[in-house]
Amino acid sequence: MNASMTLTYQALQEIFVDSGAVSQEQFNTLQATKEAKELGLERVLVSRGFLSEKEVGQLMSFWYRVPFVELSKKDIRPQDVVLLPEAFARAHHVLVISQQPERVIVASSTPKDTVLRSSLEKYFRTEVQFQYATEHDLRQHFFLYQEDPDIRIQSILKRSPVPQEQTDTRVIDLIDAIIDMGYQRGVSDIHLEPEEAYLVIRYRQDGLLHDVARIPEAFHERIMARLKVLSRLATDEHRKAQDGKISHKTPWGSDVEIRLSILPTTQKEKAVMRLLSEQAQAYSLVELGLQTGDYQKIADAMEKPWGMILATGPTGCGKTTTLYAMLQVLNRREVNITTIEDPVEVDLEGINQIQVDEKTGLTFAKGLRSIVRQDPDIIMVGEIRDSETASIAINAAMTGHLVLSTLHTNDAATAFVRLLDMGIEPFLLSSTVNVVVAQRLVRKVCMNCIESVTFNGTQKKLLEKTPQIQPLLLRLAQKATVRGLRVFHGKGCKVCHGSGYKGRIGVFETLVVTDEIREAVMTKKHADEIEQIAIREGMDSMLTDGLRKALLGQTTLEEVLRVVYEEVL
Ligand SMILES: [Zn+2]
Repeated sequence: MNASMTLTYQALQEIFVDSGAVSQEQFNTLQATKEAKELGLERVLVSRGFLSEKEVGQLMSFWYRVPFVELSKKDIRPQDVVLLPEAFARAHHVLVISQQPERVIVASSTPKDTVLRSSLEKYFRTEVQFQYATEHDLRQHFFLYQEDPDIRIQSILKRSPVPQEQTDTRVIDLIDAIIDMGYQRGVSDIHLEPEEAYLVIRYRQDGLLHDVARIPEAFHERIMARLKVLSRLATDEHRKAQDGKISHKTPWGSDVEIRLSILPTTQKEKAVMRLLSEQAQAYSLVELGLQTGDYQKIADAMEKPWGMILATGPTGCGKTTTLYAMLQVLNRREVNITTIEDPVEVDLEGINQIQVDEKTGLTFAKGLRSIVRQDPDIIMVGEIRDSETASIAINAAMTGHLVLSTLHTNDAATAFVRLLDMGIEPFLLSSTVNVVVAQRLVRKVCMNCIESVTFNGTQKKLLEKTPQIQPLLLRLAQKATVRGLRVFHGKGCKVCHGSGYKGRIGVFETLVVTDEIREAVMTKKHADEIEQIAIREGMDSMLTDGLRKALLGQTTLEEVLRVVYEEVL
């Protein structure tokens, strides 16, 4: 049961309309959506970009008249968390934040639930004080119950196999545990790598791989066989690369879609699982790091019934996630949305998704051609890689469809040059593309160990290496010199495994096709010139957006320069 579902219509109206957060009309529309009925109004406000998670939390806690807590900013100790059994915590959306001599502080998404309070007080035999945390935030922190993966895996291995069982149930439990614990931690990939005596389990979190556990080599073959069975791959194939899909359900009911890839290495097979969780869908454009002004530019383009919206950047920059977030905003019952993707990364409810299949000849171009014949309102093309796809996509955008797609270019302005190179006529291009978003992902400073620093040796050296950014940085900080200028970094702690970073956020540039840009595209101007026009007309480049985020403590200067600037240099 979602917190906002326990509140009356009138209460929600007080919280969100009377406070001026949304208009009555927006409130009524959002309240009526299927999403609001299933996930609660506060979740919809976030996913559609009306409010940030934090703003929702502040409004709710203000209404409840209890303190607001952002769990990620708290140093919550696992030994406090486990005071309450995990199953109870999950069922009632509560988490113990701290234990004091006279009371226990508990984060809850329903802090006025008196029955819940009295049962907790009976359980702890002391006073319970509630603080409000959003349900989403709570769910993100149940990982604090997690055990060390290696301890869990070793305990499964220590069990003796049941002699009568055909399959060793330990193999099944090992795979379940590896996936469950990875999902709980929010990892993106799980690697199972054969080494001499062990199969090493590694988790990729925030872009980096960590070793988490080792399983004796004797289990290698049985684990690979089990993975193949789960994904319906040929179990007797050991020499070829194979790709499959696994649908996994966690013990607490989350569905995890997994893309499995098995690769033969010189001796044994290696497996990589990519976790495509529903979490990816929940990201709204603002949560991804888009500034409100840029969000508005994209929202305007999304309201047009036809034309093209492009997301650009290198592989792994998050551009597909951005398109998914846009589709979430666009996804209403009265419109038909069809996608062609390679691969389908997240299953979106209410949207027709087609998977490219080179083997059967279903290419982007072919798929797109048949989609257009079915007359959808909105089309998402996973990527424009060739001139045939480019030309069909442009035509669809011209003939009354809103087309969303991605291009592999470094910045927004280069998207036009790339499409011209693919043989698109300048006048077609300039009249169909409405907005181009370019992006990168930077690591976020760990909120548990963040500290601010004045410009020291390291920062000054960075500026010496890239003198061009100094004026930009000073302008953003509204300072005359770097003296006294503060930036942020993470000291390193247990939460971030000593790296000082936790999570990632996008840095964006949003180029709106104005009359002057249109003119420049028509006359085949160089990308640099197009970019200059856009900046003159108010576009923040990715660098500017990144520096602003560094000044706000969302990321570090080093990270921005690493991710955005090294390609410019
Ligand atoms: Zn930290």
